[in-house]
Amino acid sequence: MNRTDKCPNCGSLNIGDGVWTGYAALMPKGKKLSMGSSVNVKVCKECGHLFGFCADKPEKF
Ligand SMILES: [Zn+2]
Repeated sequence: MNRTDKCPNCGSLNIGDGVWTGYAALMPKGKKLSMGSSVNVKVCKECGHLFGFCADKPEKF
């Protein structure tokens, strides 16, 4: 990860990394037996804006 993260909402560079997992995991549509994928997301520490959603295992889709 060497790209510069900047909040698209307030322009802050104070960005943290988060991950959605468990019940909020993103599931491939129609593949009920799949484990799905957790979702990496950027969190602005200034305004709380979430952006940069990225599936942890995009090959599952
Ligand atoms: Zn922000």
